[in-house]
Amino acid sequence: MADQNFKSEPNRIQYLNEQKAQGRYLLGVFPALYPREILWALNILPVEIWDPPGTAVLANKHLQPYICPIVRNGLELILRGETDIVDGFLFPHTCDSLQNLASIVNDHLELNKPVFSFYHPKMPYTAATQKFYRAQLEILINQLTSIFSPIDTDRLTECLRLSHEIGRQLNKIFKLQRTNQLSFSNSEYYPILRQGEFLWPEDYLKLLNEITAGETIPSKPDTAIVLSGILPNPVEILSLLDKLNVKVAADDLLNNQRRFYLPQSKFSNPLDALTEAYLKRPPCSTIGTPISERLNHLIKLAIGSKAKGVVFLIPKFCEPELFDLPQLKQGLQKAGISSLVIETELNCGLTGQLTTRLEAFIEMLGN
Ligand code: SF4
Repeated sequence: MADQNFKSEPNRIQYLNEQKAQGRYLLGVFPALYPREILWALNILPVEIWDPPGTAVLANKHLQPYICPIVRNGLELILRGETDIVDGFLFPHTCDSLQNLASIVNDHLELNKPVFSFYHPKMPYTAATQKFYRAQLEILINQLTSIFSPIDTDRLTECLRLSHEIGRQLNKIFKLQRTNQLSFSNSEYYPILRQGEFLWPEDYLKLLNEITAGETIPSKPDTAIVLSGILPNPVEILSLLDKLNVKVAADDLLNNQRRFYLPQSKFSNPLDALTEAYLKRPPCSTIGTPISERLNHLIKLAIGSKAKGVVFLIPKFCEPELFDLPQLKQGLQKAGISSLVIETELNCGLTGQLTTRLEAFIEMLGN
């Protein structure tokens, strides 16, 4: 990657074309949990599809009106031919809506591209879960290697080491963020970290290293909060929080800290290490974590980051998140932590009503 100021994102299409020119395959990956190390080891760059811009028009005839915007805009992107650059698609078994989308793309669109599914297990985990997950890894490897390159075990071990290093750097960054030692505003912080959704791991690690090696600039915001939910791109909400001098001190977001894990390089077998890492992921609605566990996790995050409240940013019609919400809100209230739920479209902008609700909530936290 050319040297860059990490606050400015590289041009994504140009970057992806450069990766192709280097002989890499590109796989369009829908949210959220998948063994990226296996893809890297096969010389495949995962290009995650969370929040394509634009308004959905073509997708509407394939989908019911009450479907989340990540699924709707993702399908729109495909139907508009804007994913022609990728060599295939991967659909992790995140929710029913994404499984439905996988079936539309695979069975009805005749794209002439391979479509893979990854069936990761849901809670409660049992004695068979470990074996099941490991078997799913092997199935995915077999499917990918039948179309792309053969797998090299040494390269997979190296990718695990890279993943571990990325996790270590992210952990440092989360801590700097929690303790007000990063110079980024909320609206800069998330776009920077989200570059990991399409950068090659060595490039992403270089970016993270530059952040942790940079100057730390302590700042003292008036109010700290925890963000929960999904987050694809409510940049305007983050900017409003900046304006209100509110810091997101920690998060429980599906596309950030909820996906955080540290694969252990001590395992002699990389698939065992990946299995262990999956089973130790933070609580998440999309893996069916018991709500009491998620609640405890949120309370710990709020206490550990001295946050005064929790804001849930949920894409409209996101069933896994909406199912958990009533009990989470009630549990937080019992623990003396205020919360606010904001349901969003993608790239939605700020309405006057939303601005007023957020301002009122922040003002209430300050009292
Ligand atoms: S936002 Fe919710 S419903 Fe939509 S893809 Fe993600 S988990 Fe599924």
